[in-house]
Amino acid sequence: MILFHSPPLCYTVRMKLPEAFLNRMRHQLGGAFPAYLDAMAQSPQRALRVNTLKITPDALLALLGIQPEPCGVIPEGFFVPEGFTPGKHPLHAAGLFYMQEPSAQLPASLLDLQPGEAVLDLCAAPGGKSGQIAAYLQNTGLLVANEVVPSRATVLQRTLERLGARNAIVTSLRPDALCQALAGGFDAVLADAPCSGEGMFRREPQAVCDWSEAHVAACAGRQRAILESAALALRPGGRLVYSTCTFSPEENEQTVEAFLQAHPDFSMSGMHRLYPHTSAGEGQFAAVLHRGGIGTARTEAPNGRPVREWEAFCRDAMAYAPRQVVRLLPDGRVFLLPDRIPPAMDRLRVLNAGVLAGEIKNGRFQPAHALFLAYERTAFQSAVELDGAALSAYLAGEAIPCAVGGSGFAAVCAQGYPIGFGKLTGGMLKNHLPKGLRMR
Ligand code: SAM
Repeated sequence: MILFHSPPLCYTVRMKLPEAFLNRMRHQLGGAFPAYLDAMAQSPQRALRVNTLKITPDALLALLGIQPEPCGVIPEGFFVPEGFTPGKHPLHAAGLFYMQEPSAQLPASLLDLQPGEAVLDLCAAPGGKSGQIAAYLQNTGLLVANEVVPSRATVLQRTLERLGARNAIVTSLRPDALCQALAGGFDAVLADAPCSGEGMFRREPQAVCDWSEAHVAACAGRQRAILESAALALRPGGRLVYSTCTFSPEENEQTVEAFLQAHPDFSMSGMHRLYPHTSAGEGQFAAVLHRGGIGTARTEAPNGRPVREWEAFCRDAMAYAPRQVVRLLPDGRVFLLPDRIPPAMDRLRVLNAGVLAGEIKNGRFQPAHALFLAYERTAFQSAVELDGAALSAYLAGEAIPCAVGGSGFAAVCAQGYPIGFGKLTGGMLKNHLPKGLRMR
């Protein structure tokens, strides 16, 4: 057993790496093993990915007033300077960036996405890579973001809502069931599989406790099944990225080799291994696979009907009506759908499709938080800019005295970017920030 003493600011535990794991790494890395151990004795560096769906890197860094080092994996990834607490920053609530460790920024970039494509992120929570895919698609095409664990699917949905994705469908289904229903439906698929998490050891001591040879073997079996499902969802000629945040060959090269042997219509164009001693971040494996043939993704244009209450809201509160197809569900929820949807969508249990605009209650339209995060400030007729104590009070869920005239729904903004909404009435701004997002 080797003990690493982690820096006190980051961890209060002593990381104990299992001897069997260290023997594997010694064998795997050979002469580079001491460099790996040195890297593991360092504290991990925090990083963020600029959400280019909403803002450019230069504009965000100017608003944050920081000049961080680039991570070097993708152009929009930066190390977070010491002393900066990004998760509590109002621009985080505005969805302008996502905290994502550098090596986790690689897999989605390997999908080589083009606007308008249909993409499946099969194991998607908490949503870092789905958010990145949404940014590459720039609100065109379709992203189906799936997470089998229901509680984690809720987190995924919240992430995509905050980041302002307008073209995402969120599901919580078993990969085999989803991919059978949506066979051949995607130009690109990301299978960021659950794994033994050897690349998480510096950040999550629990991953060290959970590690065993048997766990590695169990993960490898599960990954093979996930990869089979992912392949089924891909159209002929499509791209598939398989990734993990672990180092064991069983879960990485061997999984891919077994898949390629069983699927002669697939080929591999690249395999990437990041380690904490060779690149920024915690470590990642990613393989880029291609399905032979030529085909088109099986998607269709959505249909909908005019919704009177939504149209009235647009006239009263929006500066323009969003161009998406509108769908009213029997429970009163109104969604603004992506440009393309899977043909089987109505037969799937979908948690969210596009943007939840709001809900019709007693014949009146009540807007949803997601609407204000999905559009820029200029999309709304009224906007209230808050800073300092008033902004903190809004984020804590309080009503705000407001000198701005008028009444009705207004976007609430920080540094020009919507973070939520409120209702102006009698010199007050009534707070409509969802309870689960309030910071006390
Ligand atoms: N792609 C995510 C991101 O960037 O935020 C991280 C995904 S994480 C590596 C793997 C996910 O797979 C977890 O959210 C986990 O709940 C989910 N998962 C667990 N068991 C699964 C299974 N049998 N099939 C599919 N996904 C599973």
